[in-house]
Amino acid sequence: MNKNATPTEVANVVAHIVERGFRPVEMPGADRLAIGVLGSNAASIRDAIVDLPGVVDAVPVSKPYKQVTREWHPEATVVDVASVRFGDGSCAVIAGPCAVESRGQLLDIARAVHDAGAAMLRGGAFKPRTSPYSFRGLGVEGLEHLAEARALTGLPIVTEVLNPSDVEAVAEHADMLQVGTRNAQNFSLLEAVGEARRPVLLKRGLSNTVEEWLLAAEYVVSHGNPDVVLCERGIRTFETGTRNTLDLSAVPLVKSLSHLPVIVDPSHATGHRHLVASMALAAMAAGADGLMLEVHTDPEAALSDGPQSLTVPMFQELMGRLRRLAESLDRRLATAPSPKVGVSPA
Ligand code: PEP
Ligand code: MN
Repeated sequence: MNKNATPTEVANVVAHIVERGFRPVEMPGADRLAIGVLGSNAASIRDAIVDLPGVVDAVPVSKPYKQVTREWHPEATVVDVASVRFGDGSCAVIAGPCAVESRGQLLDIARAVHDAGAAMLRGGAFKPRTSPYSFRGLGVEGLEHLAEARALTGLPIVTEVLNPSDVEAVAEHADMLQVGTRNAQNFSLLEAVGEARRPVLLKRGLSNTVEEWLLAAEYVVSHGNPDVVLCERGIRTFETGTRNTLDLSAVPLVKSLSHLPVIVDPSHATGHRHLVASMALAAMAAGADGLMLEVHTDPEAALSDGPQSLTVPMFQELMGRLRRLAESLDRRLATAPSPKVGVSPA
């Protein structure tokens, strides 16, 4: 719409869109008011609206994903997770164990990563495991430990949700809902987190193209949840020297195609702790809006993903290097909110 379009002109365009069976989405921006038109073959409406009063132009979005494109929303989206901001130029480090194994294990790791400067805590309570005989997480008890760790440290929590039926319970305890690589195209789950009132961390599917990944994000956004952070965690290739192949070029590619923030998980991407620091630094240099890192106080005894988990001293050293790299890039590491007062440490 013209910058000076009147409310009546806007309402008239909206009415034309609705009359033809499409869904209008008003998107006020700094320099323009855009009205998105959603529906199958929305471009067919162009001739009917392009000459209405107040309309400057009607532009079909060329990609199959719509609302997540820069064409739809040119400015970068900032996703706020309990005051930790993704996409504002800072780099937010999420750290913690692969799985919540016990209260003591989680609280020890939470304190360690907090003291080293992490902005958020991760830890799986519901674990997707390749083998049904592996440790599959503590479930709701794990969520309660995560909530306690947040109360003690202030670190907002991200944890994976596996089933649409668990979304409510996970959203009750967690600040951010993680959809894992194995569920990245579970469309019922994407719809369910789309209806939840929590930001979503969407991992790239094991064998997903960037287009499939962005279409998965479109499911979440089109179901009403605009707060999606994308996470590159390596894709499956012929290479067996690393657990997955980290596609770092996806970071600048996705940031050029989409306004959503993109973070990188070098732990699951490489599968080996001695490769994690190099890839974390490379990810920050490539423009990642954050990092997800597995850290354990005793990786040898970890119930899942020990080989890729950083020890606490390795994490501390990496945080120092990330801080120095951020400075040289005119960026900074995001910081954690303070814990709520009145909580006494256990
Ligand atoms: C995880 O982050 O705990 C996890 C299982 O990761 P991914 O879905 O990327 O394998
Ligand atoms: Mn893991």
